Amino acid sequence: MTTLTFDSLNPATGAVVGSHPKATPEAVHEAVGRAETAAAWWAALGHAERRRRLLDYKAVLTQHIRELAALMHEENGKPVGDATLELVLAVTHLDWAARNAAKVLGRRRVNTGMIGLNLAATLEYLPLGVVGVIGPWNYPVFTPMGSIAYALAAGNAVVFKPSELTPGIGVRLAELFRESVPEHEVFQTVTGLGETGAALAGDPRVKKVAFTGSTATAKRVMAACAENLTPIVAECGGKDAFIVDADADLAAAADACLWGAMSNAGQTCVGVERVYVVDAAYDGFMRELTGRAARLKAGEDYGPITMPGQVDVIKRHIDEAVKAGRTVTGGSDAVRAPYVDPVIVEDVPEDSPAVREETFGPTITVRRTRDAQEALELANTSAYGLGGTIFSRNARRATELARLMRSGMTAINSVISFAGVPSLPFGGVGDSGFGRIHGADGLREFARPKAISRQRFAMPGMNITSFTRAPAELERLVRLVTFLHGRRKR
Ligand code: NDP
Repeated sequence: MTTLTFDSLNPATGAVVGSHPKATPEAVHEAVGRAETAAAWWAALGHAERRRRLLDYKAVLTQHIRELAALMHEENGKPVGDATLELVLAVTHLDWAARNAAKVLGRRRVNTGMIGLNLAATLEYLPLGVVGVIGPWNYPVFTPMGSIAYALAAGNAVVFKPSELTPGIGVRLAELFRESVPEHEVFQTVTGLGETGAALAGDPRVKKVAFTGSTATAKRVMAACAENLTPIVAECGGKDAFIVDADADLAAAADACLWGAMSNAGQTCVGVERVYVVDAAYDGFMRELTGRAARLKAGEDYGPITMPGQVDVIKRHIDEAVKAGRTVTGGSDAVRAPYVDPVIVEDVPEDSPAVREETFGPTITVRRTRDAQEALELANTSAYGLGGTIFSRNARRATELARLMRSGMTAINSVISFAGVPSLPFGGVGDSGFGRIHGADGLREFARPKAISRQRFAMPGMNITSFTRAPAELERLVRLVTFLHGRRKR
């Protein structure tokens, strides 16, 4: 039987980077079968041994950081420096997941309360079995590793389907894992197009799907998962807002804003797309921003647009924004595929696609607001709710605004800083998805709580879960409950 293959291309040059099998549904199901066997073995290893293996894998990845960064540069187009930074972050998460799994998920005693005085209770989080991870191309290591590392640390086996644009890096991640865990196929990569991902999501032996990608695809994956009642984590797109308050450090805000919006050519799910600046800070901020933007160049400071089809979306957003607003940097001619130079447009109506839809390009819209409250209200009108940023010198005020921002994560006086803190959960609300990767929540996402209550002794005179229960026993219970819970506090 001949296996069909597909090529991954360098988005800057069009050169073939590698050729990979299009895994058929049968091949995916075979991989899931191997993963089932591996999952039982891996779960039985226990926390301490898994931690040792995962820390070893971390060391192997770290030793290959230059090779992996070069491959990522070729497949995704991002500068080698940015690829290296991404790998460093992924390694940090792997380290945290390995070191914290036992503490977060391990068996512990829990308080049984007065009524359960005669019981001992324990709680632990057990592995699910096989986890299917479907990843995107924009952060082809950091993003899937946010699921893979946490799922493995929780004791699951993983079958990973990388994006068809970045299959090579996905294959290497699993190959290198085998250096630390050669016994069973605990972590496998299956390459292919959308159908391969669909086969993975539709396999009933996959106990959870961790999907990262667009909201539209998340809905299709969720529909496939519904057939088997397979739960999913959906990490989808965003339209993140950046708020500059009146007292902000404007140079620092402009610097962070530009990097948050333009690095990785704007192809960042938590990238800055909408900027709201309080009136008093507006002119100063724009001076700082446009001065810096003028020195930025696509192809030098950041790479090409990775997915050819996205160029049309970016162009449509820019064209509409330029027509309706005031261009301060770039414009329609900034698009010279596969590169897009920085584009900044002011006063774009809030119903324009450039403000409503995810652009995923190096573009921002900027709007002047009366005060921070108005900025927050506008920020919160998006259907998305992934990340966001607040710049203000008043820490209390900034924290208050951050808490009220409708998003999963908010950075204050920095951009995207939450993604580098492994103990913080990462995920969104609304069209940005649900469920969490990273942190203790990210570990629990890939485990099922197991609750055990053990009776230590029979409660004298209060045998209430029995058909032999006497009325006096119930009466004693009512008196106890009234004593414990029956007093009103005004
Ligand atoms: P897509 O939704 O196009 O694809 C995501 C993954 O799903 C790919 O591996 C893709 O495979 C696969 N896929 C496609 N169709 C199906 C299907 N029917 N069943 C199962 N799997 C399928 O997203 P992109 O790769 O274009 O990634 C960009 C998007 O990801 C943006 O919206 C971005 O915001 C979001 N994102 C979110 C992050 C987060 O953490 N919240 C982080 C990074 C990105 P193939 O590539 O082979 O088609």
